[in-house]
Amino acid sequence: MLVDSYERVVDYLRVSVTERCNFRCQYCMPEKPFSWVPKENLLSFEELFEFMKIAIDEGVKKIRITGGEPLLRADLDKFISMIYTYEPSIDLAMTTNAYLLKGTAQKLKDAGLKRINVSIDTLKPEVAQQIAQKDVLKNVLQGVQEALKVGLKVKANMVPMKGVNADEIIDVLEYCKKYEISIRFIEYMENSFASKEVKGLKSDELLKLLREKYEFSDDGFDGSSPSHYFTMKDGYRFGIIEPYKDDFCKQCNRIRLTAEGNLIPCLYFDEAMSISKSIKAGDIKAATEVLREVVRTKPEKNRWGGDDAEVSSRAFYETGG
Ligand code: SAM
Ligand code: SF4
Repeated sequence: MLVDSYERVVDYLRVSVTERCNFRCQYCMPEKPFSWVPKENLLSFEELFEFMKIAIDEGVKKIRITGGEPLLRADLDKFISMIYTYEPSIDLAMTTNAYLLKGTAQKLKDAGLKRINVSIDTLKPEVAQQIAQKDVLKNVLQGVQEALKVGLKVKANMVPMKGVNADEIIDVLEYCKKYEISIRFIEYMENSFASKEVKGLKSDELLKLLREKYEFSDDGFDGSSPSHYFTMKDGYRFGIIEPYKDDFCKQCNRIRLTAEGNLIPCLYFDEAMSISKSIKAGDIKAATEVLREVVRTKPEKNRWGGDDAEVSSRAFYETGG
């Protein structure tokens, strides 16, 4: 079992299989980065899988594939199948912008993928174009419908932004409710790669807007999920991710692996240790030591909130959010 120095059990690994993306979201990657990680520095799926096995053997129970946009990487279903075959009980999920899901959802489900989280920031084509800087909405919604059709469990993520999509909170929630998709509103997390124009809605502002329309109870946190949950009178449950709040990191159970093999203890901070050299050399012992050290050095909390609040200098497209 992996336990950090604040006695949090770390059993969730997020794996960013590529930092590249087919969208240019304002809050994440508004411009193409100055340089991409050279292809030869990326770990192959076989190499990533070697590390997945170590992580599973050390106690990881949930793996989420993310990016950049994970569906840009060829043969993703084969990688999923490797993990699933090694340990079928793993909670295997993916976060995607859904643009390429149509036509691939069945293959991913057959490979062992259980769940997906999709970014649904808007239902208006022109707003989707404004956020992602590309005409994406039709493909995204078709991708969501295809995922539902093949029986993948779907959750939605929405980052509400002032003057952009804040007026669509109810519409996006109603869309999700209609298709029994659980929605989580994510507070915009300030980072130095995002557009300076983005102004996120904080959870108090969001709740105020939602209360004008609905009655709901406050369920608090549920297990190790980062979401603060609320349940409406008709039983529909939604979540808000509030990284600016002091208790946000209390139940954090996750670490992150980038496509070039950097293992990151916290989404906010720049600190990381590489498993690339040891994995490429087949040195399981050394890679295991890095994993244990990263867990041991996991910081207590991020610095988005509080008196010493700062903008994070970590790129979301690198860590996978
Ligand atoms: N491309 C995929 C997608 O968009 O779902 C996966 C990678 S993306 C980095 C993962 C999640 O991070 C998405 O739900 C996205 O909305 C969220 N995200 C990215 N930048 C963010 C930011 N600055 N603040 C809050 N959430 C952010
Ligand atoms: Fe790409 Fe996802 Fe970042 Fe948007 S949030 S730019 S889709 S990685």
